[in-house]
Amino acid sequence: MPMSAKDVLSAYWDDGSLPVDPGYIATQMGISVLAAPNLDGSGHYEPTGAKNGGPLITYNPKESIVRQRFTIAHELGHHALSHGPRDRDTPENFTMIFSDPKEVAANKFAAHLLMPKDFVHALIQVRGVRELEKLASLFKVSKAAMRYRLKDLGYGIR
Ligand SMILES: [Zn+2]
Repeated sequence: MPMSAKDVLSAYWDDGSLPVDPGYIATQMGISVLAAPNLDGSGHYEPTGAKNGGPLITYNPKESIVRQRFTIAHELGHHALSHGPRDRDTPENFTMIFSDPKEVAANKFAAHLLMPKDFVHALIQVRGVRELEKLASLFKVSKAAMRYRLKDLGYGIR
């Protein structure tokens, strides 16, 4: 059954700390997560690709840490949303203009997982954090991903 990012966070990330660790969450969900330095692309989700026949996420460890985190969260989205076998994800798949609905959904899932709405609201409204760079570093995401999420939530921070 498909799970939203919110479902996944409440089931597997209950200590409420930042940054959210998508690799830890995936492992808790029974997914094997492997760094694949020779991967042609950023990441790949294979529902039965692991040695034990279970789900496998591979990611490219040569990319930046924030990209690796987004990649794992995106691949986790393919799993949680029951997308079935997918092609490898190229960097283009992580841009919000990509039109494949499953890619769009996986990106949205990743944004919601790494930058949960309640945390964004609390940091801005309760703790008064108003700088894009500071928010991006607290969530350990790229500034571009943070900017997009803030816009999505109706904040004018850029
Ligand atoms: Zn994808």
